[in-house]
Amino acid sequence: MRSNFDANAAVRPLPAVLDVISDYHGQYLNPSSVHRSGQAAKQVLDEARAAIRKLLSLSIHDKIIFTSGATEANNAGLRPLTSSAANQKGTLACSAVEHNAVLETLRSWTSAGYTLREIAPNSISDQPFLEAQLDDSLKLFALMLANNETGQIFNVAKSAAIVRKIAPRARVHCDAVQAVGKVAIDFGKLGIDTLALSGHKLGALSGIGALVIADGLHVDPWLYGGPQESGLRAGTENVLGIKTLAIACERAYERVSQHERCMHNAREAMLRLLAEFGTSVAVNQFGIESLPNTLSIRVRGVKADDLVIALDLRGVAISAGSACTSGRPRPSHVLLAHGLSEIEARETIRVSFEPDVSEAELDFGLTIFREVLGQMISFQKAA
Ligand code: PLP
Repeated sequence: MRSNFDANAAVRPLPAVLDVISDYHGQYLNPSSVHRSGQAAKQVLDEARAAIRKLLSLSIHDKIIFTSGATEANNAGLRPLTSSAANQKGTLACSAVEHNAVLETLRSWTSAGYTLREIAPNSISDQPFLEAQLDDSLKLFALMLANNETGQIFNVAKSAAIVRKIAPRARVHCDAVQAVGKVAIDFGKLGIDTLALSGHKLGALSGIGALVIADGLHVDPWLYGGPQESGLRAGTENVLGIKTLAIACERAYERVSQHERCMHNAREAMLRLLAEFGTSVAVNQFGIESLPNTLSIRVRGVKADDLVIALDLRGVAISAGSACTSGRPRPSHVLLAHGLSEIEARETIRVSFEPDVSEAELDFGLTIFREVLGQMISFQKAA
């Protein structure tokens, strides 16, 4: 048995997703073809858009553009302006704890002349502070709905309203990757322009995602070629990936509250276990609201990387920070932005449960976790 306590990196593909792979054996999957196979493929795209629309409460006129994942969707959503040199002045702003798909995209724009303001995660929810940080030179503002490492949920609607007041022409983008399927989302109520999501965080295959574009918003194409995806993202769509995204979104819509309860119970069980270790273990608290499935845990004196390996050898997957930054020499930018020291950040692990984690998987994972953590703490005390 293996327990996936690293669901913020990837959720296991759903059984219905695996079934659909064989259904597509031998089919022609080009939705632009006029023949019957092409039209069947086009129907897959239409059904997937309907499933995403329902899950995120989109209006019929909001656009959904399929992408290769959330990195592409974030890159595309963060191309705020025309390429005319005269426009390339002004400010871009985001939280300092955005995923690298957002941070690095925005940083890349600074070489074109923009100034980037990276705002501390806890100050971004402080209305007077945020107002003081922004002015009408703002061209683009990015804030994630939930952080992948800490689980912190941001009040995107409130921040978006402040941006609208101070810089009405600025674009507001939201990386919603970690929130989709874990908490209910109403796109219209967020008051944003664009939103990114990713399939493999939901139980679809990896390599598929989407950018949602609010009704009426102009976005320049980011892949040139054929007329696919409203002419914004040329190239034959990943029909199989899109089908699996549809399956995952339908399921998330049907079960979001059941999944929330399930993740919450798993988190509570883990917190009870951690309490057994007293002051050797600290649960990092970031912000007021948090995803029901995520815990950021510091084990004093134990390197997170060692704990990840020791647990992996016993069949439990966790992570030290986000999967995309593992192997980097510097500790997590997210934890450092929260004021943790380098040592504290290196001692911090992330535990994140699957939305429908089973009792058996949870029991197995917790049993191994208790044993391994106990051993590591004893070694550390004896050293
Ligand atoms: N944004 C967040 C918050 C993420 O957690 C991830 C993936 O871990 C991404 C963006 C990138 O998603 P993708 O792997 O689909 O490109």
